[in-house]
Amino acid sequence: MRRFAFPLFALAMLALPFLPVPDFWISQGNYIGLYAIVSLGLVLLTGVAGLTSFGQAAFVGVGAYTAAFLTVKLAASPWLALLLGVGLAVAAALVLGAITLRMSGHYLPLATIAWGLALYFTMGNMEFLGKYDGILGIPTLKLWGMDIGSERHLHVVIWLIALLAALASTHLLDSRPGRAIRSLKSGATMAEAMGISTFRAKLTVFVIAAVLAAISGWLFAFFQRTVNPSPFSLAKGIEYLFMAVLGGVGHVWGAFLGAGVVKLLEDQLQVLLPKLIGTSGNFESIVFGVILVLVLKYAPDGLWTFVARWLPRADRPRDWANAEALPVRAKPTPGEALLQVQAVRKEFGGLVAVNDVSFEIRAGEIVGLIGPNGAGKSTTFNLITGVLALTKGQVLYRGAAIGGMASRNIARLGVSRTFQHVKMIPDMTVLENVALGGYLRGSVGPLRAMLRLDREEERRLFAEAERQLARIGMADRMHELAGNLALGPQRLMEIARALCTDPALLLLDEPAAGLRHKEKQALGDVLRQLKGEGVSLLLVEHDMDFVMGLTDRIVVMEFGTKLMEGTPPEVQASPAVRAAYLGTEH
Ligand code: ADP
Ligand code: MG
Repeated sequence: MRRFAFPLFALAMLALPFLPVPDFWISQGNYIGLYAIVSLGLVLLTGVAGLTSFGQAAFVGVGAYTAAFLTVKLAASPWLALLLGVGLAVAAALVLGAITLRMSGHYLPLATIAWGLALYFTMGNMEFLGKYDGILGIPTLKLWGMDIGSERHLHVVIWLIALLAALASTHLLDSRPGRAIRSLKSGATMAEAMGISTFRAKLTVFVIAAVLAAISGWLFAFFQRTVNPSPFSLAKGIEYLFMAVLGGVGHVWGAFLGAGVVKLLEDQLQVLLPKLIGTSGNFESIVFGVILVLVLKYAPDGLWTFVARWLPRADRPRDWANAEALPVRAKPTPGEALLQVQAVRKEFGGLVAVNDVSFEIRAGEIVGLIGPNGAGKSTTFNLITGVLALTKGQVLYRGAAIGGMASRNIARLGVSRTFQHVKMIPDMTVLENVALGGYLRGSVGPLRAMLRLDREEERRLFAEAERQLARIGMADRMHELAGNLALGPQRLMEIARALCTDPALLLLDEPAAGLRHKEKQALGDVLRQLKGEGVSLLLVEHDMDFVMGLTDRIVVMEFGTKLMEGTPPEVQASPAVRAAYLGTEH
């Protein structure tokens, strides 16, 4: 059913102008298509990536004004104007994004408000842009000398572009760069630890949203045949955001639903409200405000969720059985000094969480890191993997200093990890979550992904993800949503994800917590097997049987300080360690 939904919808929308449908509805359809293209960008940006922009209407304005200015004042080709308009929008998005996207929080929303206001006043005050009267007399759109500027022709053009954009967005979300974008909202730290540049992913999605808005603006200019600043104001930018939120933040088709509902409702209200209230005014914005609050309360994922309920979820067909295996990293020679932790220190304000701790891991070793809660083990992990910045000290990996490097660059060297508090993307399948680990082993970018030229690499990534899941005993759950798993399986999934990176050094933070006895044994077997393959391990674990049976050496921490280091029997025999665990003075 889902397979036929898109072609049927596409056919209906494209055939509409050739049917005896009144002009009014064709024109409505044009508006909805134009709005949907913009809010599609916002679904990707806000819904999927969690970034808010109030300035999309300004990007629409860039596309529209470029089209108007070039075709009216310079008699240039509309298609050249499209190219330039999109180019300008990309440039503006890159500048805005480069300034704000490295910072977290409210910088982007604020910057987009400033951008929206600035552009609005620029359009309104520039002589050459016609001030608030705008630019009139835009020629009709022509393609190879053929006039395609009528409302009915434009309906086909607008909807063809809208549908292609929806298809490209769907493709993007189901791809290597798309998974990176989907991890921005709730898993940025994890994504970075898997080698993903979250800044780049943010910039990508911000630029895509700007491009969609500019294309919509370009179409808008040829639809209206005149431009003035008012449709590109900040208020309109908020309305676009409203469409995306109402329709279904996070769902590509929610953009269309949101655009449709807002446009139709707006028209109805503009007729109905003055009759009810007795005076005219922009009362519909009040109604929209109330609706938005209701939707956020009762359908936070938007109206599309109600439609989606009727569409069965399609599992990704398992088409990767014969995929070629991904290349494997050459492992360090056993015994080589792999990791040297040299007097690392981490202070959180007055608290010294890690106090000049030093130890070493040689290639092929399994080293345990134990100590009571709050001893500083997880913080040590974060220092080694670049998740936290060192206060002092240095970390060497294969002889090279990695202290101060970004965690994605440390991941690139072959250091992978799991987190004590599972970090995953709950609304991705287990398989997709694990495939995130394979990010650095692929290379497909957003353009190839949108054009579906990534299937060969995707098959290889998914084959690897399934192989790692199978290894950890989770292959039968690969199509489940990660958020639906219990804690134990979620931890196993994280291990599979870390293995998918093809690590030389693997850091596991309490991997056996929440596992049943049988699962622990199986996990122990896998870790031993990994050691046999030349992977080195650093293991934080509270289950002493598990640690003692598995490790070559153990580092014991207490209150941020290294208490001792030795073989499992030495550690077990130590009175100091026993005292630390029992919490008594020693
Ligand atoms: P462990 O993993 O050994 O249980 P942690 O490394 O998580 O210990 O924590 C060590 C100490 O550092 C604890 O006292 C903890 O409260 C503190 N700590 C950890 N992370 C932070 C942080 N981001 N900000 C402030 N204090 C922290
Ligand atoms: Mg911890």
